Amino acid sequence: MDPKIVEPTIFELSSHGRIGVTMPASDVPETALPPKDLLRSDLPLPELAEVDVVRHYMHLSKFNYSVDSGFYPLGSCTMKYNPKINEDTCRLPGFLFTHPLQPIETVQGNLALMYQLQEWLKEIAGFAGVTLQPAAGAHGEFTGVLMMRAYHKSRGDHKRMKMLIPDAAHGTNPASVGMLGMSVVTIPSDERGNVDLKALEAACDDTVVGMMLTNPNTLGMFDENIEKVIALVHKCGGLMYGDGANLNALLGIVRPGDLGFDVMHFNLHKTFAVPHGGGGPGVGPVGVAAHLVDFLPEPLVGILEEGEDDGETAPLFGYVKPAKTIGRMKAFNGHFGGGFVRSFTYIAMHGPDGLKDIAQYAVLNANYLQARLRSTYHIPYDRICMHEFVAEGRFEGSDVRALDIAKRLMDYNFHPPTNYFPLIVPEALMIEPTETENKDTLDAFADALIKIAEEAKSQPELLHNAPHITPFGRMDEVKAARELVLCCWLPEGYDTSA
Ligand SMILES: *Cc1c(COP(=O)(O)O)cnc(C)c1O
Repeated sequence: MDPKIVEPTIFELSSHGRIGVTMPASDVPETALPPKDLLRSDLPLPELAEVDVVRHYMHLSKFNYSVDSGFYPLGSCTMKYNPKINEDTCRLPGFLFTHPLQPIETVQGNLALMYQLQEWLKEIAGFAGVTLQPAAGAHGEFTGVLMMRAYHKSRGDHKRMKMLIPDAAHGTNPASVGMLGMSVVTIPSDERGNVDLKALEAACDDTVVGMMLTNPNTLGMFDENIEKVIALVHKCGGLMYGDGANLNALLGIVRPGDLGFDVMHFNLHKTFAVPHGGGGPGVGPVGVAAHLVDFLPEPLVGILEEGEDDGETAPLFGYVKPAKTIGRMKAFNGHFGGGFVRSFTYIAMHGPDGLKDIAQYAVLNANYLQARLRSTYHIPYDRICMHEFVAEGRFEGSDVRALDIAKRLMDYNFHPPTNYFPLIVPEALMIEPTETENKDTLDAFADALIKIAEEAKSQPELLHNAPHITPFGRMDEVKAARELVLCCWLPEGYDTSA
C-alpha cells in the first residue's frame, strides 16, 4: 500500500485571518519592532480557530494505539497499567511545586517519600542499599557495573575486565558493559532455556568482573539452576548482576538478593506503574548487597536526626554520602514527581499481599495464553513460563513471517507483541499479557492469533499486505530509519534524501 496521509495537515487547514485567541488590550507602552533585517518573513504560521485546532489534534490522537485503548502484549517491557490515581498524587502541589535545591527543612515530605521508597525497594528485592538516581534500566546497568568495578579495584583486583552475558540478554546489557570499556563473553542457553552450566564454568576465571543475568530471562524462563549459576560466578571471584526488568514475575515470591545477586536494577516504568515509552521518564534504581553499599552513588536520602513520626519529634531527612561512592549519576535526585511519587503510590496501594498478587496473575495470564496457543504456534522452549513466553511466528510450508503476523494483529485491533527478540528464537513473537488483563481479553487475543494462523494457510497475501485498517500501510522500516523525517511540514523544495 502506498503510504498516504489521510488527514490534512494543520497548515492545509489554515485560512488567512482565522484567530484562535483574543489578546487583552495591551497594558504596557508599545515599542517599535526590531530593524527589518532582523525580522523573519518566511515563517508561515497556520491561522486557525481554537475548535479547529482541538478537533484536529483530537482526531489525530485517535489514530494512536495506547494502553488505554487496548491490549498491549509487548514482551520484556512489562508495565502496561498506569493507574490514574498516580496522576493525582504526582500532581499534589507539595510535590509539584518544589525544587531540589530548596533547604532540606522545607522538603521533608519529599525526602521522606524517597527514603521510604528506597526502604521498600530494599525489602522487595532483598538488598542492603538502594539508589534512586538512574534515569532508566540501561542507566541502572551502567551504574551497577561501575560499582562492581569499583568493588574489585578497592580490593586491589585490577585485571577483571570481562563480563559474562547469556545469549538471551537484552541488548542494553552488552551495551552498558561496552560503554565502560569492558569486553563481553557470551554464554549460550541450553535446550531448556537455562544458562549452559558447562559453558559458564569454562568462561569463569579471575579476569571476570561478574555476570549479568535476567531471571526470569527474555524467554520468560526462570533459570532452574540459578543457585548453581550464582555459586559458579562467586567461586571465581565475580559479582552477580541482576537485570530486574522482569521483576513482575517474582514480586512477593522470590527476592533476588536472597538468591545471591549482588547488584540489580529495577525498572520503575516496567514493574511499578510509571508510564512507559513516550508517556514519561524511565527510572532505574539500583539495589546492592551489603558489601557494595559503600560504593552507591551520592547522595542517598538518609535520616540525619532520629525521631518519632508523631509530628512533635519527627526524624530529619537529608542527604548522605556513601564512604567510597562512585559519585553522582544524575542531576538532582533523579525523576522525582513522574517516577518516585507514582511508584510510591503504587506500592503503598498494593501492600505486600497485593504485590504478590501481581506476580501470581502475571504468571497465570502468560501460562493461560501459552496453553491456548501451543497447538497452533511452535513454542521452542516449552515449559511452564513466568510472566511471558516466546512463540515462533512461522509455519511449515508457508512464507508468512513474524512481521506479517504482527501487522495482521493490528487489523484485529491488538497491538503486536515484541517481535524478532530474543535473537535465539527464529521469527520470535514475545508475548507478555501482564497481570491486569481479564480472561475475555486473553481469549479474544488467542482467537485472533489462531484465526491469523488459518489465514496464513488460506490467504497469505492478506498477511503480507497487512495492516489494512490503519492510515498508513506497511512501512519501509529501513528507509524510515535511514531517512528520518520528524516533522509533518517541510519547506517547499526540501530534499528528504539529502
Ligand atoms: C527494558 C529492558 C532493559 C533496559 O531498560 P530501559 O529502562 O529500557 O533502559 C534491560 N533489560 C531487559 C530485559 C529489559 O526488558
